[in-house]
Amino acid sequence: MSDTINLKQLPSGALYQALAPLGVTPSMARRIQASVLRRGTLPFDRSDLSAALLERVASVSRIPELTCLGQTVSPRDGFRRLLLRGDGPEVFESVGIPLYHGTPLERTVVCVSSQAGCSLGCAFCRTGRLGWQRDLATW
Ligand code: SF4
Repeated sequence: MSDTINLKQLPSGALYQALAPLGVTPSMARRIQASVLRRGTLPFDRSDLSAALLERVASVSRIPELTCLGQTVSPRDGFRRLLLRGDGPEVFESVGIPLYHGTPLERTVVCVSSQAGCSLGCAFCRTGRLGWQRDLATW
């Protein structure tokens, strides 16, 4: 599986280069990437992407998914914390922070982890107590 193309990992130019031998053009690569990142699937609307081409892409690629191990929503401030696992054994968090501009939950800021653990060691922080474990993959 490690030598398959991770469709969530590559920037569009690199994704095009990886898929070009299959007949994928730069605009097709951008459509594939947009569909994968927005919906987690290859495109449904295949006006210029034939079923045969999408089958070739599917046969050499993968679309990884994060596993949500749990979530909590604070009754005090509405912060939503997700405990996630990706392609390794480490777990990490992502936090949805509601912004109140008149209507509650109108907008949400998302705090995204780029590392498992942290080397800064702030005294109040449990992540800091873990120490740095690794950088997370882009996807
Ligand atoms: S140790 Fe400090 S910098 Fe690192 S995640 Fe915790 S609060 Fe943030």
